[in-house]
Amino acid sequence: VLEGVRKHFPVNSLRRHGKFVHAMDDISFSLRSGEVLAIVGESGSGKTTTANVISRIYRQTEGSVVFEGRELSGKMTRTEELKYHKRVQMIFQDPFGALNPTRTIGRIMERPFVIHRIAEDRKAVSEKVDSTLTQVGLEPPDQFKRKFPHELSGGQRQRVNIARAFAVEPDLILADEPTSMLDVSNRMSIMNMMLSLKESHGVSFIYITHDLAGARYMSDRIIVMYAGMIMEIGPAEEIITNSFHPYTKLLKSAAPAPETGLKRKPLITGGDIPSLIDPPNGCRFHPRCPFAKEVCSLEIPPMKKIGDDHYARCVL
Ligand code: SF4
Repeated sequence: VLEGVRKHFPVNSLRRHGKFVHAMDDISFSLRSGEVLAIVGESGSGKTTTANVISRIYRQTEGSVVFEGRELSGKMTRTEELKYHKRVQMIFQDPFGALNPTRTIGRIMERPFVIHRIAEDRKAVSEKVDSTLTQVGLEPPDQFKRKFPHELSGGQRQRVNIARAFAVEPDLILADEPTSMLDVSNRMSIMNMMLSLKESHGVSFIYITHDLAGARYMSDRIIVMYAGMIMEIGPAEEIITNSFHPYTKLLKSAAPAPETGLKRKPLITGGDIPSLIDPPNGCRFHPRCPFAKEVCSLEIPPMKKIGDDHYARCVL
């Protein structure tokens, strides 16, 4: 559960001394057990920072992040930290960068079982590695265990990362754009594989993406972020078919049409995500919003309930 979370990074430049990057502001949501929650937004929207705060790569500046009743911002002993990282695993965007290039796939896959003491001896570790590689379609496992990461394709490397994340039987997986560096032919099979592993392992999932169609396919609920704030949150189908916030409509109108695969003409043209060092006053989307009124630049709109389990941050 995140409640009123802010993450501000100090700007490391003399000219802008004393300024901060407002990467996350007033972020509140809860993840339900066993659900897939997608966080959608352009780069600079704060979605990766949100994942990094939950995984304790960063500590929040303000607000609380609670995992099963425990506030995460405090200090943890090494044992507690290890336990937390067994329960909360990450899958990163770059399948190559996440794997040690000097180790074979076999050695890479052994580590989580050894670190978290999941298997008792070498034979048990080897059996676990074999069954995990088989689960992600890297068969026969003996053939893949001998290889180095550079000898695998991008899709195979991401399968190793996914296998490693699921290997330790976590409760939560944070997947940060896991398919964005893969070609189209691999994307669908990796998404389907993650969904079937999620079902068989009973794990909860936070799926971070810039692709609204992918979010709809993968998730039960969708959060739409813009310039460090949540703009809309609701059931995935509702967000797609009955989106309310002008920014969600922009994302939808800019997505390729499913029938043709061609990009549609965006509903709102012009403008980029604003600087997070000096974010716009009021609604952060107001400089690009075709419906903006005077009040939009004066106050940050609160999140309002607009339907069943559906909330949006807009004065409309
Ligand atoms: Fe547009 Fe105003 Fe709504 Fe922001 S609050 S999305 S500027 S109408």
